[in-house]
Amino acid sequence: MGCPFCHPAPELILKETPRVRVMINLFPGVEGHLMVVPREHIGAMTELPPEVAGELFIEAVAAAKVLKETLCPEGMNIFGNEGPVAGQNVDHVHLHVTPRNTDDNLVNFQRKNKDRVAASAESKATLKAAFSK
Ligand SMILES: [Zn+2]
Repeated sequence: MGCPFCHPAPELILKETPRVRVMINLFPGVEGHLMVVPREHIGAMTELPPEVAGELFIEAVAAAKVLKETLCPEGMNIFGNEGPVAGQNVDHVHLHVTPRNTDDNLVNFQRKNKDRVAASAESKATLKAAFSK
């Protein structure tokens, strides 16, 4: 079996642009859970060329607007995962567009104990140095 996002079932495709495909999730977390994927097989978000990354997010936002008008959810998740540890389970970049409602039985990725921990001075310094290159 090939890559499900390179060779999707036609009935799952909602929209195609030159670089991006908007698809129905075959196993949705909730009703309306969509996937936005590059048409080209790219495994990791950090490998996306800027023009593909831009079109991917533009189409994810457009899809979220359609869901908002159609399903009237209370909120929306638009997110992507990179690597199995982060929850990526198909080796082809994809953004999830997920309508959210109270008690929809999905769990956001939060610390297990839900404590809020402020960023450390060391962490802030490391990030500022990395972004000043
Ligand atoms: Zn693929």
